[in-house]
Formats: sequence, structure tokens, C-alpha cells
Amino acid sequence: MSGPKGFADARSLWKSTAEPGPALPMLETDLSADVVIVGGGYSGLSAAHALQRRGIEAVVLEARSVGWGASGRNGGVVSAKFRVPFPAMAKTHGPETARRMHGIAHESLHVVEEIIADLGIPHAQFERTGNLRCAHNARALDALIAEAQWLRSELKDDSCSVLSRAQLAQEIGSDAFVGGVLHRLAGTIHPLNYARGMAAGLVARKVQIFENSPVTRILREPAGVVVETPGARVRARQVLIATDAYSELTSATGRVSRSIIPFRSAIIATERMPLHLQAKLLTARRGYSETRRMMKWFRKVDGRFVFGGRGAFGREDTASSFEALRRAMTTLFPELEGLAIDFQWSGLVGMTLNQLPHVGRIDDRPCVSFGYNGVGIAMASLLGQYAGALLAGESPQLALLDASRQKPVPFHSLRAPGVRIVTGWYQMLDALGR
Ligand SMILES: Cc1cc2nc3c(=O)[nH]c(=O)nc-3n(C[C@H](O)[C@H](O)[C@H](O)COP(=O)(O)OP(=O)(O)OC[C@H]3O[C@@H](n4cnc5c(N)ncnc54)[C@H](O)[C@@H]3O)c2cc1C
Repeated sequence: MSGPKGFADARSLWKSTAEPGPALPMLETDLSADVVIVGGGYSGLSAAHALQRRGIEAVVLEARSVGWGASGRNGGVVSAKFRVPFPAMAKTHGPETARRMHGIAHESLHVVEEIIADLGIPHAQFERTGNLRCAHNARALDALIAEAQWLRSELKDDSCSVLSRAQLAQEIGSDAFVGGVLHRLAGTIHPLNYARGMAAGLVARKVQIFENSPVTRILREPAGVVVETPGARVRARQVLIATDAYSELTSATGRVSRSIIPFRSAIIATERMPLHLQAKLLTARRGYSETRRMMKWFRKVDGRFVFGGRGAFGREDTASSFEALRRAMTTLFPELEGLAIDFQWSGLVGMTLNQLPHVGRIDDRPCVSFGYNGVGIAMASLLGQYAGALLAGESPQLALLDASRQKPVPFHSLRAPGVRIVTGWYQMLDALGR
């Protein structure tokens, strides 16, 4: 199952069901542009879109293929949440900051719609069917309900509603949870179609995107930067590094990789369920996630049960890690026992120490956008737009997302064993029901 350097993507449901992307060349001739963008995921492509709309010439360089990173591998659950709850933000940073962060979260969902409409990507299949957070115990449910009430009373946001244990069991076809909170504005998407569709729409507007063109060096010059790839160079006034958890592919993006702890996350998809299970499980076609620290999520795609989450995955996929995921799935949904797993794949999530994503300048020229902490479909789409605005000289209100607030991860070389220790600790707390 494993691919080169542990970045496996074998047997992905998205790859086998996606529309083909545009045919994109490798960079073989030196070029000049206003902005060079490193990375062809949602962040980089959305930034290219924002620049294109402002009439600023951008060139996108992707090491492998568009959507090869997390953008083509994720679960396709489009939500507007941060890992830090809004009431906690209000407590630490004040109500105005929490209000702005809440505005940013909601704007991120609009941006996905806007990009799809503007670039014409119907096969992204974005549907606002909602996202249901399922509580694994009473304490977790109380916390979900308290946040929903806080949003309603403090921010006049009534897009969340509480589901009782019976209502939840009826909708999902399992009584494994004690209740939940529905976020009605969220939805689901075909992640790789979205990434490839963005690229196709941009190419139609004459934006240059190059695949198989890893940036190996970023050199500063008085007037900007020169970015080297094995085939040729791009000279530009400014650079955006949009490589997130895949920043270790080359040393050129070391500044970003030092700010991130990469965490492997995996997904399995069953064979098509028998019709009675298709009718019984996940009847509302939403994205679903649970409240355990080692959070699992699930959705239904074309009659298949798709189940994902983080576990004690190392740098490589192993059969036992996928088997652990399968067991977690059948513990929650016993009726899936015995179904074949048709697809299994994984990718890297970029975690940050403060659990928030970041965008901005790290010094006078390079701009960065990274650290989506596993919730990046909408947020990378939005932060790409903010990065484009920053590169155009504008000043979007970034609140807690401003990259200049972000410090490199201390003792970065120890992060791999660190991730394993934290993962083990979280698994133990989950097992104890804490
Ligand atoms: C398994 C999994 C499940 C997930 N599920 C969800 C979900 O359900 N909902 C959600 O909201 N988020 C989810 N996420 C997170 C989400 O996918 C990411 O936050 C988002 O895709 C990040 O986009 P990006 O463009 O910043 O990075 P990426 O999509 O990772 O793109 C970075 C790109 O940079 C390229 N690159 C790296 N180095 C270089 C170089 N030197 N030169 C040129 N190119 C380079 C890489 O090849 C890669 O294509 C999930 C992530 C994973 C891995």
C-alpha cells in the first residue's frame, strides 16, 4: 500500500471516480511572473484564482500533480469550524476576535461556493447537507450544546440544532452516540474533482500551472525571488508557499515545515452496501464526525460507507493501521461487519501548536498559508483568497490567523516521536471515556 517516501495514495476512492484533470506540462523554460505559487492544492489554486481576478499574473508550480497532496485525498466533509471553540477564543482573546473568527469560518463556506460558481465546477458535487457532530458521551454532548447555545446568544448564529440520542440513532442507524449537534450550513464535496476543477478553470483563464515541477530552491534577489525546479526557473516579485503538510518534499519549503507537525490520517471505503443498509445508515447524506480526541468521521458516497480518522499511523501506511480503522468502523456500525473494503488510502494533515491555520507574510517577501489541522477544504479555499489579497497589497482582517503570530515548532526534530506519544495518550483517554 505504501508509496514513495511514505506519501501513499494507492486505491483512493476519489482517484478512481474523479473527472480527469487538465493536461499540465512540466516547467522546462525559464519564466517571469508577478507571483510564483509553490503547491497545487486548494491553498495555491485559490490564491492563483484571487490573483487572476485582480489581473495579477501568477504561475503555479506543483511537485507532483494537482490535488496530489491533502486536497485530493481528504474526506470531503466541508465544515466551517476551527479546532479551538469560539467561546474559548472569546475568553482568551475577547468577544470581537471571536466574532471575526466566526465570520471567517462562515465566509470560508461561501468561498467554496463562489469558486465553484466562478470557475464552473459542477462535478465538485458540493452540497450543503450539513455536518452532524456525534457525542460519544454525556460530557461531550454538554460541551457541544453549550457551544451551540453560546453561538446563538452571543453571535446570533442559529445554524446549529441539537439532536437527541433517539433522533441521531434514527438518522445514522447506530446507537453508539448519546446525541449530537447539527451544523446546517456545512456540506460534502468530491475533493479531487474540486481541486482538478479549480485547475481546469484557471487554465481556461490562461493561468500557467506546471506539474512534476518541484521547487528545489527559493533564492532572494533585490527585486524579488528566483524559484528553481529541476527543469527551469521562475523569476517573480513575490512567492507564496502553499505546501502545508507536504512541505518536507524538498528543503526549499523548510520554513513552513518547521511550523507544522504532520499527522497521518487515513480513510477506508466499503464495497457498495446492500440496499437495506444504504436505506438505513446515514439517511441524511451529511458529513458526520464524532467527539473523541482521536476523532473519526464518516459519510456515504454512492452507496459506500466511507470512514476515516487519525490513529497511531506512522510515516507509512500499514495493513494493521487500516485494519484498526475498519474495527473502529464496525464497533460503531456493527452491521458493516463482513463488507469488503474496496478503497483505502491516507494523507498528511498539517497540525499547528495553537491548532489554528495561518496565512500571511513570514518576512518581507514570502507569503505562506498552512496548518489547517485537518479541517482545510473550506479554510484553505478562503486562506488562498486572503493570500492572493495580501500579495496584491490588500490587508484582509486575519485576526488569529495572521502568520506573524505563528512560531516555529520548538524541538521540531522530535516531532515524530512526539506525535506518537500524544496519539497514545489521546487513545488512552478516549478508551477511558474521558
Ligand atoms: C486523509 C485526510 C482527510 C482529510 N479530511 C478533511 C475533511 O473531510 N474536511 C476538511 O475540511 N479537511 C480535510 N482534510 C484537510 C484538507 O485536505 C487540507 O487541509 C487541505 O487540502 C490543505 O490544502 P493545501 O492546498 O494547503 O495543501 P495540499 O493539498 O497538501 O497541497 C500542497 C501541495 O504542495 C505540493 N508541494 C510540496 N512541496 C512542493 C515543492 N517543493 N514544489 C512544488 N510543490 C510542492 C504537494 O505536492 C501538494 O500537492 C483532510 C486531510 C487528509 C490528509
